[in-house]
Amino acid sequence: MKIIMLGAPGAGKGTQAKRLADRLGIPHISTGDIFRANIKNGTDLGKKAKAFMDAGGLVPDSLTLELVMDRIGQEDCKDGYVFDGFPRTIPQAEALESALTAIGQKIDFAVDIDVPDENIVNRMGGRRACLQCGATYHLVYAAPKKEGVCDRCEGSLTLRDDDKPETVKKRLEVYHQQTQPLIDFYQSRDCLVRVDGTKDVEEVFLSILELLGV
Ligand code: ADP
Ligand code: AMP
Repeated sequence: MKIIMLGAPGAGKGTQAKRLADRLGIPHISTGDIFRANIKNGTDLGKKAKAFMDAGGLVPDSLTLELVMDRIGQEDCKDGYVFDGFPRTIPQAEALESALTAIGQKIDFAVDIDVPDENIVNRMGGRRACLQCGATYHLVYAAPKKEGVCDRCEGSLTLRDDDKPETVKKRLEVYHQQTQPLIDFYQSRDCLVRVDGTKDVEEVFLSILELLGV
């Protein structure tokens, strides 16, 4: 099954994508995680992406598409994947559609996790991420067992630079301008489903499973 998670930054895409990918036994592909890993490893891609990410903007489509096309061509993607944070622009969605059409495939579901802007700043301010393994926590809603330490790998947890309030505001603007139009795009492809992302994590997950019929 090929699934796209849509929603504002902080809506819970990563949280739900990881669970869904585990449940379905398919890879979770987060373009944000891939960019952050490249920044950490000092690669060329990381150097190019960093300035855009720090400013709360989007990495150019050309860079993003190259890495995604390469990723979905890998063996573990043959039975599907859950995209998290991709596509984020109409050109990205169109490029993905063309690439899939060329091999007789299509996206099965685009899941929009709906969370109003007023909840987002709170979500992002409390988010703590493990830079070592990518696990995500929340100070209030999903606290780690030991403060500041990842439950999974014991890496240290940090507030992402782009989760600071001034950058979050910019990221929300970019979301409304460039990413929200994807809701209509996937509606017109008859694969859009929507969930109320203000409910707790488990409830949101159960709603998604029901909508996907899995
Ligand atoms: P996204 O991938 O859309 O940016 P995340 O999955 O990283 O969002 O979630 C953002 C923050 O909100 C994280 O700290 C996460 O633990 C928390 N979170 C995710 N889903 C919920 C929920 N349903 N209720 C409360 N907090 C949530
Ligand atoms: P995320 O982890 O999904 O919140 O992404 C963090 C940042 O990475 C975004 O604010 C963008 O700067 C960049 N990014 C992630 N995915 C994409 C994408 N599909 N297109 C462009 N930029 C992206």
